[in-house]
Amino acid sequence: MQTSSRCIGRLAPSPTGLLHLGNVWAFLLAWLAVRKQAGSLILRLEDIDPARSKEEYRKGILEDLAWLGLSWDEGPDCGGMYAPYVQSERHRYYQHALDILMQKGCLYPCFCTRKEIQALAQAPNGFEHVPMYPGLCRLMPEATRQSNIAQGKPYALRVACEDRSIAFLDRVYGSFAFSPKDFGGDFAVRRSDGVVSYQLAVAVDDGLMGVTQIVRGRDILPSTAKQLLLQELLSLPSPKEFAHMPLLLDEEGERFAKRHKSLAVCSLRAQGVKPWKILGFLGHLAGLLDKPCDVSANDLVDAFQYEKIPREDIRLTNAMLASAFGA
Ligand code: GLU
Repeated sequence: MQTSSRCIGRLAPSPTGLLHLGNVWAFLLAWLAVRKQAGSLILRLEDIDPARSKEEYRKGILEDLAWLGLSWDEGPDCGGMYAPYVQSERHRYYQHALDILMQKGCLYPCFCTRKEIQALAQAPNGFEHVPMYPGLCRLMPEATRQSNIAQGKPYALRVACEDRSIAFLDRVYGSFAFSPKDFGGDFAVRRSDGVVSYQLAVAVDDGLMGVTQIVRGRDILPSTAKQLLLQELLSLPSPKEFAHMPLLLDEEGERFAKRHKSLAVCSLRAQGVKPWKILGFLGHLAGLLDKPCDVSANDLVDAFQYEKIPREDIRLTNAMLASAFGA
């Protein structure tokens, strides 16, 4: 386990789609935050959900990041002290964590329907409308629970969350104190089909890999409270620095997603857009450049400061995109 105070950050792409401009935005800022502190960067592939992860995306994401000049120091291609860096190869660590949580009495089986739990291993949602798990299975009489298990009914595992506050400082959005009701109550750490949740995998990996700095999209901000809670329950070290980034939105105010095919890095590359155009455009949006100009990622390191990052999500009109990339 990492003991030094050196900054360790990570890029944690999920290979569930093409790398698009919205991902590059968050990854560029995470990269700059680490490089600004002369830290070390881990690239970790978050392919925990086998149904959604694809080899072609995994390969493409690594290629696109390298093409942009967003280099990493440890990762699936170059190894490192905490290998493997691919979540699908780290199941033993997650199982060990589940065993510890179970032994400590922090988990309970949840027999609620598949529909209710299907969102589990998917990328986390925004925190404005978090559905609350009503705790039905937590209150289930032990005899019913045992009989359900004996009948072979599938169950997820949820964390029995105490009603307490989990506080952290975000370098862009300020101080937060989350109670479980703010993040939807008892959350699942394993689905009924055995797939462990994003929350558990990330909490375990960040803890074991000695990650000290988390920079990612603001849609994941409430997950920070769940991950801090899990790290505490597992006696794992927690990151010290958190910074969530505003989201890039399209002209209609929707987040960039797979359907924005023309804004996938591979499409921009195929159209002849150069990496320095993309980096200059994003560096300008981040308040690091007075105007978009051709830069490398390295050129932006000195200017990087959390204080310059806008707090509002950034809406990109088609006209802005056309003038930047001719896309
Ligand atoms: N793999 C997650 C995603 O692509 C990011 C996880 C994180 O940064 O904690 O949405």
